[in-house]
Amino acid sequence: MVKSTYRTSLIELSQIRKMFENTNPDAINLAIGEPDFDVPENIKNAMKKGIDDNFSHYTPNRGYEELREEIVKKLSKDNHIKTNANDIIVTCGASEALSDCCQALFEKGDEVLIPNPGFLSYEATVKLAEAKPVGYETPMERGFKVKTDDIQEKITENTKGIILNSPSNPTGAVIDKEDIRGIADLATDNDIMIISDEIYEKIIYDNKKHYSPGAYSDNVITINGFSKAYAMTGLRLAYMSSPSYFTEELLKVHQYTTACASSISQIGGIEALRGPQESVSKMAKEFEKRRDLITDSLNDMGYECVKGEGAFYVFPKVPNPEEFVRKAMDAGVLCVQGIAFGSEGKNNVRMSYANSYENIEKAMDILRKI
Ligand code: PLP
Repeated sequence: MVKSTYRTSLIELSQIRKMFENTNPDAINLAIGEPDFDVPENIKNAMKKGIDDNFSHYTPNRGYEELREEIVKKLSKDNHIKTNANDIIVTCGASEALSDCCQALFEKGDEVLIPNPGFLSYEATVKLAEAKPVGYETPMERGFKVKTDDIQEKITENTKGIILNSPSNPTGAVIDKEDIRGIADLATDNDIMIISDEIYEKIIYDNKKHYSPGAYSDNVITINGFSKAYAMTGLRLAYMSSPSYFTEELLKVHQYTTACASSISQIGGIEALRGPQESVSKMAKEFEKRRDLITDSLNDMGYECVKGEGAFYVFPKVPNPEEFVRKAMDAGVLCVQGIAFGSEGKNNVRMSYANSYENIEKAMDILRKI
């Protein structure tokens, strides 16, 4: 026994993973958080060529310049973020970017505002930096949307960071433009850094628009990547765009943790950004159909369910989430208790519609019966 306590005792293993370790393999999985689509052919072909052309060496720590230049163009065009290749760091997924940000920015005594309910990694990565996660509630009655005032109320002299996630996992909520702008102004005025997790940016419905706080404030690290938009989850590729004054701090963490993201995945990333984007909009259209099916079915069954504006999750309110998840699992449908995403999810369950239309129909039939 080397040591009686470890930093990792501050956190627990993911409850979601644990929950489904020994479950029926034939169950319909509405618990997963990844697109059920394949990587588009043009991206696959670029990566195959990358292997043949021996792109198997370390890349620059920040990532290939060619990829970073494409990211700069994308951020300018889609997000109105003016940056340059030097302030982009390509990472092993948004997960690494998030962890790098927390390690570089926070320390004991710092408070970091995180969404409640919110993606599990926020609490864990903040705690691993020994900072204190402080949840901001996003009530169901408001479509789970955060408002500028909610954030303002939670700011203290110890607040060092705000994590935003739009579109949201687990609620599908998209933050309105006025609040993105309002929260960006709060960050500027109070000397706080926003970490803006925009990984679901491209999975958005009803002609809703995505807005980035990085367009309005210098105190923003924008995280985005390829996992969801291009169905590249296993290829572990994302990036962060940092204000110039902070890039080298992030680079220190990234450099000593992973050195660089996979060279072949980066080749795929260049093609993803440069190539045709039809597969992205096709995928989003298909998700939109599934969203309508699942939300309407759940509402018909009497479960209050907000029609999300993005990502691929619904977060219905159910009378007894623990019993609901257990009964659904016994009957062959996997979903997750909302409490896994924070105390404000205690009356809800999360269902992902990253599964086929037919499977969602079957799953809804099963739920109707039980
Ligand atoms: N951020 C959110 C909100 C997510 O839901 C996920 C994955 O589910 C991630 C980040 C991690 O993305 P990546 O696969 O790029 O690490």
